[in-house]
Amino acid sequence: MLVPMRSILEAADQYHYGQAAFNMNSAGQIEAAIRIHELLHSGAILQGAEASNAYMGGAADFMHGTIEQKQAGAKAIGDAVKKYGADSPIPVALHLDHGKSLESVKACIDGGYTSVMIDGSSLPYEENVELTREVVKLAHPYGVSVEGELGVLAGVEDHVFSATSTYTNPMQAIDFFKKTGCDALAISYGTSHGANKGSNVKIRREIAIATKECMMHEGINGFLVSHGSSTVPPEYVARINELGGQLENTNGIDVNQLVDVSKSGINKINVDTDIRLACTRNILELFTGHPELQKSPSIGKIWEEMRAKPKNFDPRNYLGSIINTIITGEVPDEDVQKIVNCMKDGVIESIAPLLVQFGSYRKSQLIKPVTLEEMADRYKKEGI
Ligand SMILES: [Zn+2]
Repeated sequence: MLVPMRSILEAADQYHYGQAAFNMNSAGQIEAAIRIHELLHSGAILQGAEASNAYMGGAADFMHGTIEQKQAGAKAIGDAVKKYGADSPIPVALHLDHGKSLESVKACIDGGYTSVMIDGSSLPYEENVELTREVVKLAHPYGVSVEGELGVLAGVEDHVFSATSTYTNPMQAIDFFKKTGCDALAISYGTSHGANKGSNVKIRREIAIATKECMMHEGINGFLVSHGSSTVPPEYVARINELGGQLENTNGIDVNQLVDVSKSGINKINVDTDIRLACTRNILELFTGHPELQKSPSIGKIWEEMRAKPKNFDPRNYLGSIINTIITGEVPDEDVQKIVNCMKDGVIESIAPLLVQFGSYRKSQLIKPVTLEEMADRYKKEGI
């Protein structure tokens, strides 16, 4: 069933495990992601960023999509999540990652998202508070959860870029929760976006511990989120480069540190890059192992685009020729089916171990199956 993200994070918090959240960029990936969460009996948080919405709304230049494209894409993602998740035995939340405006938050709520992030972290503090508060006022009457962000993460990811990071101040985080009424907060504590996180990253877990401790003393019933937390498995990168890719300086976060922080106050762990890498490697392997597909009328263009951009590992940049399948999940022929299978396998391979390692494996029955309407009532009664 579809639930607000809050109910999934309440269980993670209460039972001290980490809940991973995965970015999705096609109907097939959504189907595969829900299936693997079902098989491992884990709640699921699937995410679409603004660029994912634009892409799924048919924008070729998805980094600069229009609001109309984002509206269409939010609905396409919402429809796919409903199709595979509404009757699923596990609780599934659909969350907007790094929302930038009230307008795109609204598009997501209309499209069927059950949770939204508003990222005002690049704004002066008071403006961030004000924007996040506005989003809470908009989302909570629908029962939709809200994630804010405080502190700045370095790195590149979809609409987010920063050269340097500023760690989150735990005292300010308390003030932020109080003033905005948000459900979850992304903190900056050493992780960064993208595939180049630097070698030997040491997460400042003290920031999560201090923030969570202060929250308990202040009676704040909220959750902390770790962004930029892909593990970037070196064997994925090595294989991509063996097959003609040119990825350099790739470093992820050591999974043991993520397991550790999930027991030290972090409730949600965002992963995107790992999936992109696994899908790209699978598709390169497909074309290399079956050279006749390089000339396929329906998927040959994909190979050409991959060859032309060896530094790229974002499937959206080479799958434009099968965009209808990406958006709807409808498969016109056998060759396209092979690409879809590569994407599904990439999702399953990268997600499954993290569900086990972070500990959400076999916990789905601990999550209260709350509807959006019930959550809206709760917010109203509690005055938030
Ligand atoms: Zn992020």
